[in-house]
Amino acid sequence: MNEQKNEQKQGRHEDFYFTKHGFIKADWHEHAPSPEGFQPAYLSSPEFQKNGYHCEELRDGFYWVTAGGYDAAFMVTDAGVIAIDAPPMLGENMLAAIESVTDKPIVTVIYSHWHSDHIGAAAIYPPGVEIIAHEITLELLARFPDPLRPLPTVTFKDEYLLELGGEQLELSYKGANHCPGNIFIYAPKQKALVKIDIVSPGSCTFFHCDASENISGWIEAHDQILEYDFDFLVGGHIFRWGTREDVITAREYFHDMLGFADEALMQMSTPDGVGEFFAIPPAEQYSAANENWINSMVNYVTEKMLTKITSNGQLWEERLAGVTTNTKYHAYTVVESTRTERSHKGYQKRGTGGEDFFI
Ligand SMILES: [Zn+2]
Repeated sequence: MNEQKNEQKQGRHEDFYFTKHGFIKADWHEHAPSPEGFQPAYLSSPEFQKNGYHCEELRDGFYWVTAGGYDAAFMVTDAGVIAIDAPPMLGENMLAAIESVTDKPIVTVIYSHWHSDHIGAAAIYPPGVEIIAHEITLELLARFPDPLRPLPTVTFKDEYLLELGGEQLELSYKGANHCPGNIFIYAPKQKALVKIDIVSPGSCTFFHCDASENISGWIEAHDQILEYDFDFLVGGHIFRWGTREDVITAREYFHDMLGFADEALMQMSTPDGVGEFFAIPPAEQYSAANENWINSMVNYVTEKMLTKITSNGQLWEERLAGVTTNTKYHAYTVVESTRTERSHKGYQKRGTGGEDFFI
């Protein structure tokens, strides 16, 4: 049925590129709407439509700026402005936002991590400005140079205390998660935390655990965020800043998924379980069997996630935006990262014997 639909509409057609070789089109009629409040009022305000950004003072000179999809932050001090990140989607509107609340100069820039979707407009900042980042961020930017991402001028390994104009920011690196070099940026007086690409408040986050590299570290980062005493989380996406409750909810979603991924692996990836997928197709159809094996585990996890009554009595799709579309992509990443990052609960004994383990 879906293949027929796709064959009829090869190539780009209105809002989708159809091909029988790829993914089927998401039919919005079949998906859960975003929970109420996911789209804040500013998104439809004439001011936002005209300016392309929305800026809020979270507390005592600490500001949140969003382009509606990507966000960043800045802090106004007596000695000048500290800008955190420069997403291209905000671009020069980051400067417009800063200029709308102060005429103090930007004296320091902080890179949360090296990804160009969050700092790819950093060339907007004045030449010679101090740029602080983790030492891995410098290493990666030096290795893959980009004129729009000037190299950091100050780096650190574990902790860095930035003091400027009577204000403080505590920078901390706790290991690889979303990517190596992704840091925590905390304003203790304002109780504002910037931690990018872990929690996207109100949603289950973008595909594949927000396109992250170290999934064990990424899931652990939810706990590390909760170790901070914060009232505001700037997460990098999507339409609003976050609260502790948002982090706790996102953590629960991914912990549920870890549990179901373990179940899927123990059912379908043990030596016995995996055999069924490869027994029926001929040997030269190895790849089709392989796809069915992996996608069966993904489907198992997706089904369990979408039908689970969660801790507050609701389905996940009622609690977080994007659940009915994104869960299958997260499920793939969580299943595969479990196979690559966690214990296989045993291994083959000599010959073909041994206790159950997953492959
Ligand atoms: Zn990123």
